[in-house]
Amino acid sequence: MAAACERCGRAPESVRLVAVSKFHPASDIRALLACGQREFGESYAQEALAKQDELVGEDILWHFIGGLQTKKARQVAGRFALIHSVDSAKLARELAKRASEARVLQPVLIEVNMGEEQKAGVEEADLPELARLVVSLGERGCGLDLRGLMCLPPVFDSPEEAGPAFEYLRELRDELSATLSRPLPELSMGMTGDFETAIEEGATIVRVGTSIFGPRPQKP
Ligand SMILES: *Cc1c(COP(=O)(O)O)cnc(C)c1O
Repeated sequence: MAAACERCGRAPESVRLVAVSKFHPASDIRALLACGQREFGESYAQEALAKQDELVGEDILWHFIGGLQTKKARQVAGRFALIHSVDSAKLARELAKRASEARVLQPVLIEVNMGEEQKAGVEEADLPELARLVVSLGERGCGLDLRGLMCLPPVFDSPEEAGPAFEYLRELRDELSATLSRPLPELSMGMTGDFETAIEEGATIVRVGTSIFGPRPQKP
């Protein structure tokens, strides 16, 4: 990450590492905590909440990065430093309702769909409307706090090929920020295979699992 920052003239502290611990046990998270890593990403609500319980009292910032069903919104609202995967009005409304009930402001990203073969993420044409809704759901000190955008690019043969998708997400973020007249500082993009390319295109958060924890075991 530091080398990628240096190559494109960015400050190393402008990019945060979310270590993606899905399918790995809490003991692996403890090993990384001992090395100074603080931010961890999980994709499945039940698994994530079980690990939070196991690691209660540890100084961890949890990220929810997976697809989120509306019916799980109640369980996750207020329990993650950042939810990366808001992609529908229905989910946004439910998360906002649950966050308001808990009297918290829940930071979120909107996930943008980057290819025809992907199911997750809002279509680009629907992004401005969803973003306006999310902003409107957080104007009284609780509800949702829109921090930026997230994407999973299509799978490519080489990391450089993901570059245009990452560049595109940055452009979408810049346009949206101008339209909404508010800063959208976070761009969550880049994983094991392409995080360096993502950093060169402006990622502020990279989500890396395999190259830290090794291959994922089967889902527990
Ligand atoms: C699993 C996952 C990652 C991590 O992928 P690796 O290739 O193991 O680094 C990142 N982002 C999301 C949304 C994921 O589901």
